[in-house]
Amino acid sequence: MTRPYDSRKRILVTGGAGFLGSHLVDRLLERKHEVLCVDNLFTGTKRNIDHLHNHPRFEFLRHDVTFPLYIEVDQIFNLACPASPVHYQHDPVQTTKTSVHGAINMLGLAKRLQCPILQASTSEVYGNPSVHPQTEDYWGNVNPIGPRSCYDEGKRCAETLFFDYHRQHNLDIKVVRIFNTYGPRMHHADGRVVSNFIVQALTGQDITIFGDGSQTRSFCYVEDLVEGFLRMMDSGPDMTGPVNLGNPGEFTMLELAEIVLRQTKSKSKIVYQPLPQDDPLQRRPDISIAKEKLNWEPTVELEEGLRRTIDYFLHLVKEVGLV
Ligand code: NAD
Ligand code: UDP
Repeated sequence: MTRPYDSRKRILVTGGAGFLGSHLVDRLLERKHEVLCVDNLFTGTKRNIDHLHNHPRFEFLRHDVTFPLYIEVDQIFNLACPASPVHYQHDPVQTTKTSVHGAINMLGLAKRLQCPILQASTSEVYGNPSVHPQTEDYWGNVNPIGPRSCYDEGKRCAETLFFDYHRQHNLDIKVVRIFNTYGPRMHHADGRVVSNFIVQALTGQDITIFGDGSQTRSFCYVEDLVEGFLRMMDSGPDMTGPVNLGNPGEFTMLELAEIVLRQTKSKSKIVYQPLPQDDPLQRRPDISIAKEKLNWEPTVELEEGLRRTIDYFLHLVKEVGLV
């Protein structure tokens, strides 16, 4: 006999009150799953999940993933970790603990439950790359003792743990390396370039370009990224990753500033400030594996994604008054 909710799963999203996590939670609920969002609200906010307050298939648990968690779920998406340089450098020891102890705790949970677990890794595992665009077989160029290391090395160690649990305990792991992603619900003050430029343009402040603005990044719209998460989780157990998820369109920070200024019709001036230490000079994903194995590629161009993101921040500025 078929039970009515056979395809309904109970899914844990750590970091579910954050930018990416809250969009993922929305998509999982749309797919009729039950979602448990675990977050310590360090960089995430209840505002991102407010609309789910009375949702019958949504639960929120305030918890720090550096401590063990005893629950029952069918799948785990491990996103908990501050992601912007300003946030992850605020308490670097806690950042490494979140990546490493958080991974150990979530992997331990997945092992007990024998359930698949996806890790939100990052393009930062490539550091300041000498291979361009970055392919998954590139081992990276990371400074182990610099101000970004707590994040980069924490995420690298988490990947190591995921692959050791896979080899040692046959765990069904899914590691995605996320390249710069942007969109509505980014934290307005987390210092990331897209939110910084948009907020500066909308509020008439100077646009702060670090360095000469020739460094590049590839920006993926959040909706595309979340689709990549879902396809990765739905893939067979052989598809462990690591797999790059990002938009291969590559832009200099000066180009980004010019698009934001044009779209917002802002009169803000561009000012140049020193490039932070160990800031990668170029970054662009090779997404051949995601295309071939997940049939995934981004669909939202930067111009369109920025329009949607600017609309979101306009709403924050005008109606919520947060900026
Ligand atoms: P975010 O800061 O908006 O979300 C992270 C969430 O994790 C927040 O809600 C925060 O409160 C929570 N958190 C932090 N430490 C925690 C802890 N110890 N216990 C429980 N919750 C904790 O950032 P985001 O952009 O949504 O990033 C989500 C994940 O994706 C992170 O793991 C990040 O490293 C990864 N990632 C993001 C990007 C990007 O461009 N957005 C790029 C690469 C990787
Ligand atoms: N950046 C900038 N002005 C800002 C914030 C960031 O020029 O106000 C630059 C930063 O130096 C980096 C790029 O934009 O070269 C992307 O920075 P972000 O913090 O968004 O992401 P990450 O460095 O982690 O890729």
